Amino acid sequence: MTEGKLLSFVKDLSLLLEKNPSEEIVFTEGKQLLETLIAVDDWLPEEFAKPHPQYYQQYLLYADPLDRFSIVSFVWGPGQKTPLHNHTVWGMIGQLRGQEIGTSYYQQKDESFKAGKACASPPGHVDTVSPNTHDIHVVENSLSDQTSISVHVYGGNIGRIHRSVFDPVTGAEKSFVSGYANKVVPNLWNPA
Ligand code: FE
Repeated sequence: MTEGKLLSFVKDLSLLLEKNPSEEIVFTEGKQLLETLIAVDDWLPEEFAKPHPQYYQQYLLYADPLDRFSIVSFVWGPGQKTPLHNHTVWGMIGQLRGQEIGTSYYQQKDESFKAGKACASPPGHVDTVSPNTHDIHVVENSLSDQTSISVHVYGGNIGRIHRSVFDPVTGAEKSFVSGYANKVVPNLWNPA
């Protein structure tokens, strides 16, 4: 039996992070691992691909016991969109299904936020965020009639990290912890 794709990704990323790589290495070698994981959309179990009529869903797929990384499926119903937010750890966003648009924002002298370039992510594309360079963004489902799904990998357990949402006009910052929609995680050793 061939090993499941998610388990292979967990193993390979664990081995990479074991070497305490620079962010540049994470965003090259780690990014390639994520590109391999999302190259073919045939492995995400249905229960972690279910949209909610009102809110985009975040399903935990795996969390490293040493909090070095976490893997989350984001499932977006038509028109769903995040508020302006940061992460405080590196992140990679791999498009598995549908299409999303990510827009980085940059704080100005008057504290308001200005939008940078919007980046459309077709399936197979990996986008990044980093507190060192571009950590604040808005993500939305760019399809008005379809679910979109992306696999997010963060340099920590994102469901336990205190981070912020921002008012784009005033720059006002509010702390939040995102959490997960699922009560159980996938069985990596018994892939579909
Ligand atoms: Fe984000």
